[in-house]
Amino acid sequence: MGKVISVSNQKGGVGKTTTAVNVAAFIADTGRRVLIVDIDPQANAGYGVGVSAADMDKTIYEVLIGSVPIRDAIVKTNFRELYLIPSNIHLAGAQVDLLEMEGKEFILRNAVDDIRNSYDYIFIDCPPSLGILTLNSLAAADSVLIPLQCEYYALEGLNQLLRIIAMVQENINRGLSIEGIVLTMYDSRTNLSQQVVSDVREYFGDKAFRTIIPRSVRLSEAPSFGKPIGSYDRGSIGSVTYEKLAKEVLKNG
Ligand code: ATP
Ligand code: MG
Repeated sequence: MGKVISVSNQKGGVGKTTTAVNVAAFIADTGRRVLIVDIDPQANAGYGVGVSAADMDKTIYEVLIGSVPIRDAIVKTNFRELYLIPSNIHLAGAQVDLLEMEGKEFILRNAVDDIRNSYDYIFIDCPPSLGILTLNSLAAADSVLIPLQCEYYALEGLNQLLRIIAMVQENINRGLSIEGIVLTMYDSRTNLSQQVVSDVREYFGDKAFRTIIPRSVRLSEAPSFGKPIGSYDRGSIGSVTYEKLAKEVLKNG
């Protein structure tokens, strides 16, 4: 049975998509079958794996409104064992459709249950909000992986996310656990980054991943070439650290 991991943080631009794409790609590179489900209308995960879904008519949107079976929306990427269910801008309107549906929190879960057995890992790339899409991902997931940018106020907003996770655990998904907190865009030259690391380690203990992702231009360039970092620049520091993070995720089981 595949493990479903929701990559969530309602803050924008903290590294959710970069983390989902690169951890997924490194795990796929070990020969495990991995699916990325993009539930963000910004559709950035597609770029990260070289799939342009702008004109596709079988995306996560059609899956969620029930007009396309989930299996039909899966796209094979150019990377070994790595698959994607793309999103596109149509998903922005789906939030209204979803809110009117019965069992609206469980729509993604019900769809994902049909394909869970076909993958070793399924990563859900969430939008920067705590709306119905993120709620659906938390309901569908076994665990939640939280990227946290090393910046001022990094921890602000995290409490809100943790409250939502607790609410989901209590009411709609007892099995949900915290996969871990990963610090991203670390800059060793600043005291601020170091302060965030020590705060997070103190607060979260072993729920904070040992691996810290540094700020690296190569990571931000890779999506414009449609490649995960391991294919774009294997020797770069971003590649080395995301591979380590992927190993930590694998070790979590
Ligand atoms: P959104 O909330 O909009 O979905 P996000 O949380 O998914 O954003 P990303 O898209 O992964 O965040 O990252 C935001 C921007 O920062 C992107 O341009 C990305 O390429 C860049 N970026 C992510 N991680 C790093 C890093 N470690 N070093 C440098 N740039 C990074
Ligand atoms: Mg994103």
